[in-house]
Amino acid sequence: MTAKILAATATFGLFPDFAEAARKDKDKDKKKKSKKSKEFEMPPLVDFKTLDELEIGKVNLDFTSDMDVREGTGAVVIHHAGLSKDVDIDVPSIHDMHLGNGWAGIGYHFVVHKDGFIEQARPLKYVGAHAYQNNKYTVGICMTGNYNLAYPPFEQAFAVEQLTAALCKNYKIKPSDCTIFGHRDLNDTSCPGDKFYPYLPQLIKNVKKVL
Ligand SMILES: [Zn+2]
Repeated sequence: MTAKILAATATFGLFPDFAEAARKDKDKDKKKKSKKSKEFEMPPLVDFKTLDELEIGKVNLDFTSDMDVREGTGAVVIHHAGLSKDVDIDVPSIHDMHLGNGWAGIGYHFVVHKDGFIEQARPLKYVGAHAYQNNKYTVGICMTGNYNLAYPPFEQAFAVEQLTAALCKNYKIKPSDCTIFGHRDLNDTSCPGDKFYPYLPQLIKNVKKVL
């Protein structure tokens, strides 16, 4: 990296790793985009809650190795759990699966359940393991369920919007399609599902409205 780019990164908070990946994948995304349906709409966000005001469950998890501290936060990445069935899953189970991958522990920072309950997963200050080559400056949110198979429940979609809005406020992130990503915007994956991904622009709009 040249000194010039380093200086730009320091001054403007540019994050070359994910910005570049996002640009590269833009065209590819268009092909992957699936259509909206009348069966589902993103719920409007009526109120705004800060991270401190949101009810966020805490689970005690043991992480097996040291994790790097995230130096900044420029974007939010939304995932689905994407198991073979569209079911809820608890945080310790995802933690165990990710330990099985040889990771320090659960890779997402938050898990949002189908009933709208939000749980803290990997501590927010650490670099996650959820979007290959795009973890350094991002926060990862996982929605339980498989949204290639079904639409998310209202409560869950609402909670994801609330959490995304709170994170944007907390980290002074301007909501846009360059700061709020579905996992497929950054890596070659169907995550967060064909039935949910087309609603991300609506989510971004709703988040913008309450900030
Ligand atoms: Zn994902």
